[in-house]
Amino acid sequence: MLQTSQISLKSCPVVLVIEDEPGDAQLIRLQLLEREPGAFVVHLAGSLEAAKNLINVQGVRPDVLLLDLNLPDSTGIATIERCRNLIDDVPVVVLTGLDDASAMKTAIQSGAEDYLTKDSDGSALRKAVRYAILRHLRDADARLASTVFMHAREGILVTDADGIIIDVNDAFTRITGYQRDEVIQRSPSLLKSGHHGAEFYEVMWRDLAEQGHWFGEIWNRRKNGEVYAEMLTISTVRDGRDKIRHYVGLFSDVTLQKEHERQLELIAHYDALTKLPNRVLLSDRLHQAMAQSLRRSQLLAVVYIDLDGFKAVNDSYGHESGDQLLVAVAARMKLALREGDTIARLGGDEFAAVLCDLADTASSLPVLSRLLEAADHPVHLGSLALHVSASIGVSYYPQAESVDADQLLRQADQAMYQAKLAGKNRYHVFDADLDRSVRGIHESLQHIRRALNENEFALYYQPKVNMRSGAIVGVEALIRWHHPERGLLPPSVFLPVIEDHPLAIELGEWVINSALSQLKTWQDAGLNFPISVNISAFHLQRADFLDRLRYLLGLHPKIKPGSLELEVLETSALQDISQVSELMQACRELGLSFALDDFGTGYSSLTYLKRLPCSLLKIDQSFVHDMLDDPDDLAILEGVLGLATAFRRQVIAEGVESVEHGNLLLQLGCELAQGYGIAKPMPAKNIPDWVQIWRPDKVWATQPTVSRSGLPIIFASVEFRSWVKGVVEYLNGSDVSPPQVYAQDCRFCAWLASQESPEMANNVAFRDIEKLHLQIHELASELLAAKRNNQAQDFAEMLRRLLKLRDKTIDQMRSLLFETEGIAFLPSAGM
Ligand code: C2E
Ligand code: CA
Ligand code: CA
Repeated sequence: MLQTSQISLKSCPVVLVIEDEPGDAQLIRLQLLEREPGAFVVHLAGSLEAAKNLINVQGVRPDVLLLDLNLPDSTGIATIERCRNLIDDVPVVVLTGLDDASAMKTAIQSGAEDYLTKDSDGSALRKAVRYAILRHLRDADARLASTVFMHAREGILVTDADGIIIDVNDAFTRITGYQRDEVIQRSPSLLKSGHHGAEFYEVMWRDLAEQGHWFGEIWNRRKNGEVYAEMLTISTVRDGRDKIRHYVGLFSDVTLQKEHERQLELIAHYDALTKLPNRVLLSDRLHQAMAQSLRRSQLLAVVYIDLDGFKAVNDSYGHESGDQLLVAVAARMKLALREGDTIARLGGDEFAAVLCDLADTASSLPVLSRLLEAADHPVHLGSLALHVSASIGVSYYPQAESVDADQLLRQADQAMYQAKLAGKNRYHVFDADLDRSVRGIHESLQHIRRALNENEFALYYQPKVNMRSGAIVGVEALIRWHHPERGLLPPSVFLPVIEDHPLAIELGEWVINSALSQLKTWQDAGLNFPISVNISAFHLQRADFLDRLRYLLGLHPKIKPGSLELEVLETSALQDISQVSELMQACRELGLSFALDDFGTGYSSLTYLKRLPCSLLKIDQSFVHDMLDDPDDLAILEGVLGLATAFRRQVIAEGVESVEHGNLLLQLGCELAQGYGIAKPMPAKNIPDWVQIWRPDKVWATQPTVSRSGLPIIFASVEFRSWVKGVVEYLNGSDVSPPQVYAQDCRFCAWLASQESPEMANNVAFRDIEKLHLQIHELASELLAAKRNNQAQDFAEMLRRLLKLRDKTIDQMRSLLFETEGIAFLPSAGM
């Protein structure tokens, strides 16, 4: 910018005289040059047009214009404006015959630099010309400033030393909506939004006083009432004596930027899909909540939520449905919280909540229940009803040992895994004491991945046999982990950790591939039985399951696909039955067969049975295990067998641990079995030897299948065993409530009574059973009385007698059964 000190006059300034009176023009010329002939270069023009020609065509560059206001092509005050338009930034001095104060003022207002009457003498003329040039140069500074002022994009506001507005620019009006004359002589406080307290302005004034300027962001209010953000710089302007003259405020409207920032913040802190806070914001809130809980001596809970079965939904119905499900469940879970609590989405189907201000841990329980409930409701999307549930882990703060926010979240995560392991759709509270003792008991994803790469997994094989014929019908592959430190680990330790994780697919494919390799080895050795592998519902419902299976089969061209059987696990996690059914059909066309695993435990077993093309049902081992002395389990088992017959499916019983299990299953018509009573799962290399030596128990071969009419005897036997078991458990103290010992309350007695008939009166076995039963009741009463009176003396002896009586009764029940069925009694074995 120009500095006044630098201003100097050119050695011979160029003067352009615009005067139509030739005499006057010459006179002016003479006056300019009379004393110093070379002091000015003078050009004469008789009209504006002639002047324009000189400038534009002949290239004359005047430093000043001397202008007569009465020209042939322009007269009056407007001539000044026209003349100034001839060339930019050159001072115009008006020459006129009329010495009139108001005309002079008008001329100056119109932009003339000076005003001279024609009768001025030479020296006055020369002086005026020189002054005009110098003044014009000096004012360039101010003109520039004023241009900046007027055209700046920033709003500018100038106040006097008392803070009263004396000028504003156009941008001020554009931004604030106030016209210049609406704010002149007023205080800038008319722009206040009320967003800042007195303290804010105090700091501003202090900075202005001390540092001479203030810079910051401030919320103001436009004339239309709208609040906006401006970036404002205020400077103090002092005069030569250091006295404050003005304050100048320069500001720009940053509302849009602020909005943009807000959106960025939204993106940075919120999950785009569910609109819940994300991990970053959660961490922020958790830190705050932790500090607050210490201040207020309240507890807080960190809740880790993972949806059960979400991946399956995603895979079967596509991401869009999965997303919609997440949105719906997220919204419901949010409603389940109290005011002030936060729920965030951590990613995928994982969420975390922070519950603040808890008086004790118990006060968090209703919220946890509500969260479980929120997830455990079908979400309807068109005709689909998608259903997931939640596994929830909780940890509380503060704890005995100091913990940070990350640890809290990890603890809750760990507890969530416990909830999954315990069967999902539940919450589990992190136990800090327990954690210290079992830290690291669950293998992490990374360890499992490493184990897969290091080939630490192995398949064990458990034979499946026909108990009656002794034929080996196949083997089931069961995965094990040869852990370098912890030894052989069962799947319950690691499969739940990778469930719903892509790693489960990788491991699943490893299982299929290993089983196919094993088939080849055995087939080469002359062993020809199928291998069944367990397939999780998650894996089965992958869109590319069939393609991958074809690929894996292709790797083993020598193996007939018929040698591979797939056991479908967790049938309750099958989402779209018709889709799964189609897939199974396609696999069957490849030659594979299917078994439904753990049959009877899923709530919709019957639906699966009807709709899924599987040839084999595996009765869940829990029913088999207890069928000998739990009439309810026996009833379920019998029901499943009935279903299988009705639907013409084969049945295999899992968990056959004893010869007696086998007997009963055979009597009920179930010949295929698997269980520790036959063989435990073993490494592949042991299978050939086992095949050589294994023989079924002799009684199995001759065990009859009982007709419907014989069933009541079987049920009565189980009732009886169950009752004896109750007595024994009570005596051993493992069961709290004493069993019914009086004959009139006994269901077995009721059965005996119902069997009374003229034929039975002569039946030796039946008579025996009646007698034995009475003796048992007497003995049981004695035993219970002894227990009540704490007479421990002959306990062991009495118990032995009880069990002996039981076995005798069972033996007689058996002969009764065989008699009814018309089969010769085999005295060698129990039921
Ligand atoms: P499952 O498919 O029901 O397998 C039977 C489980 O019962 C096996 O446990 C087996 O060792 C055990 N078992 C067999 N006979 C008896 C018995 O007489 N009494 C008792 N108490 N248990 C018996 P394991 O090997 O620990 O496997 C547990 C579960 O892990 C399996 O249950 C299956 O659901 C899953 N699993 C095992 N291997 C794989 C695999 O390769 N892939 C997948 N996805 N799941 C697998
Ligand atoms: Ca299985
Ligand atoms: Ca099973």
